[in-house]
Amino acid sequence: MSFADLPTKNEIRVRLLEGNSCSLPPLTNKLPFPYHFIPGDVRMWLGRLLFSRNLKKLRTQQRQPGSYADNSTDLLISALAGETDLQLPTWQWPEGKSCALVVSHDIDTPGQEKGVELLRAAAEKRGLRSTFSFVGSNLKGYEPLIRDLRSAGHEIALHDMHHDNRVAFLAEAEVVARLLPLKEAREAHGIVGFRSPSWYTSAALWRGLDKVGFQYDMSVLDSWPFFDPDRNFGVASLFPFSANGLVILPNTVPYDDTPWFCGYNIESILAFWKPKLDWIAGNQGLIMLNAHPDRWWSGSKRAAEMFGQTLDYILDQHEPARLRAIDVANHFRAESVRGATIALAGDPRLEIPRHGDASMQPPAFPKNPMLVSAAEYIA
Ligand SMILES: [Zn+2]
Repeated sequence: MSFADLPTKNEIRVRLLEGNSCSLPPLTNKLPFPYHFIPGDVRMWLGRLLFSRNLKKLRTQQRQPGSYADNSTDLLISALAGETDLQLPTWQWPEGKSCALVVSHDIDTPGQEKGVELLRAAAEKRGLRSTFSFVGSNLKGYEPLIRDLRSAGHEIALHDMHHDNRVAFLAEAEVVARLLPLKEAREAHGIVGFRSPSWYTSAALWRGLDKVGFQYDMSVLDSWPFFDPDRNFGVASLFPFSANGLVILPNTVPYDDTPWFCGYNIESILAFWKPKLDWIAGNQGLIMLNAHPDRWWSGSKRAAEMFGQTLDYILDQHEPARLRAIDVANHFRAESVRGATIALAGDPRLEIPRHGDASMQPPAFPKNPMLVSAAEYIA
C-alpha cells in the first residue's frame, strides 16, 4: 500500500463507520412515557413541526442533492480499483442482474396485521418475498402472523426490543443485556437481522449485535438529512459492506417517511422516488424499500396500491435481483469468498465490495425533491 492511497482508504473508513452514527440522542428519549403512546397521526404532525427547522434549512440553503441520495463512498471505492489488479473479481449481484431489490417493513406497534396483510399481498402478487421487522416486546402477539409469513417465504427480523430510539445510545454490554432475553424467540422465528428504530446506529450497537449472534444490520441509510441539520447523515453507499463480520445493508429508500415529512401525498410518492430509483439502478446498487404498515403511512388500501405501483415500476424498468435482506447478507459472504471484496485493515475490520469500472455517477437530479415544493417537483 502506498502512502498516497491512505487518505482515500481512511475517508472510506470514516464514512462507513462514523457517517451513520448520530451523536445527538433524539427528543423521544427524554419523554417520560413511550412515544408510541401518542397516536400515530398526531405524532406525524408533531414530527413535521419539530423537523420544520431542518426542512426550512434544506429548502432555503443550496445543498447538494446528497441530502436525498449519496454514493460518495462508492465513488471513493471505485477510485481504489485503479490501484488494484484489474483481473481481480468485482462485485456482482446474483443471476447477473445489474441491481437488486429488497422490500422491507418495520412494524413499530401491536395491531398492524391489516397493514401487513395489504403490503405482503402487494409483494406476493409480484412474486416477491419481503423482510418484516418486529419489535421484540410485540413478538408474542404476532406469532400466528409470523408463522404465516414465514411459511409463505418471507423473512422475520428484529426491530429492537422496544421502539424507544434508545438502543444506539447504550454501551455494548447494555445492548447485549437488552437483546439476550430474545434468544429463544429469535431462534424460533429464524431472526438473524436487525433494524434499529428510526435508523439510529452506533459502533457499540454493531458490536453488541455481533455478540448476541446477529448476522446483519440494516439500520444505515445512504443519506438522511433530518437528524442533524448541519450534516447529511448516512454511509453514502448503495452497497452492503461488513464491519467485523457483521454485514451492513444500506436502507436506500425510506419509502414513506421522507416524502411525508417533506409534505408529499401518497399519489406523488412514486414521482418523488423515481429519480433516485433510476439512479440507484444505474449505479448497480441496492434498492432497499422500507414501508410501514401503519394506516397513516403505507398500511391503507390506497397506499398499498401505490406501493404496488412502485414495485411494478422497479421490476419493469430495472429487472433487479429479487432478494430478502438475509439473501443480501448471504450474498455478501459469497462475494467475499469469491474474492470480490476489499479488506480495509484496522479496528473494526472492514470489508467493502470491489467495483471494477468507473461508470458510477454521483446523484445529479435536475431537481432535488427535498429542495423544492411538491408542486414544482411533480410538475
Ligand atoms: Zn420503526
